[in-house]
Amino acid sequence: MKLGKVEELAHTLMRAYCPSGWQFGFDHAKRRAGRTNFAAHAITVSAPLAAVASEAQVRDVILHEIAHVRVGHAHHHDAVWKEEARRLGATPRATLTDGPSLPAPYVGTCPRGHRMERFRRPPGPVSCAVCASSFRPEYVITWTRREQL
Ligand SMILES: [Zn+2]
Ligand SMILES: [Zn+2]
Repeated sequence: MKLGKVEELAHTLMRAYCPSGWQFGFDHAKRRAGRTNFAAHAITVSAPLAAVASEAQVRDVILHEIAHVRVGHAHHHDAVWKEEARRLGATPRATLTDGPSLPAPYVGTCPRGHRMERFRRPPGPVSCAVCASSFRPEYVITWTRREQL
């Protein structure tokens, strides 16, 4: 989605459902789609994730955060929050597991060619989980860092 459209959608939904005094903004999170900042009275949506998400996904994220604003910080993702999320039309789920994902910066390859991705370089040697269920030095993964994403 174009970020201008995301902002427009956020403002429309927040005007309709959010108490006044709340701001909308973008953040740069790579694994969390949205955030409700009670201290700053702001809802933020990850710009890199929104850019590769569909309108339905972005709407779901914004409504999820608005439900947090409406029920208050203390409820986290409890039954009260779930009820409110459902009422607003958001998926009443704590994590948006089917949301878009970004390519991770570290790419690992095992000696037999299996590939995997990680957001951080593992601190020690890791062997390929496809080739062996426990650590085996002959299947150790070689990590390379991708160029700018
Ligand atoms: Zn949440
Ligand atoms: Zn392998």
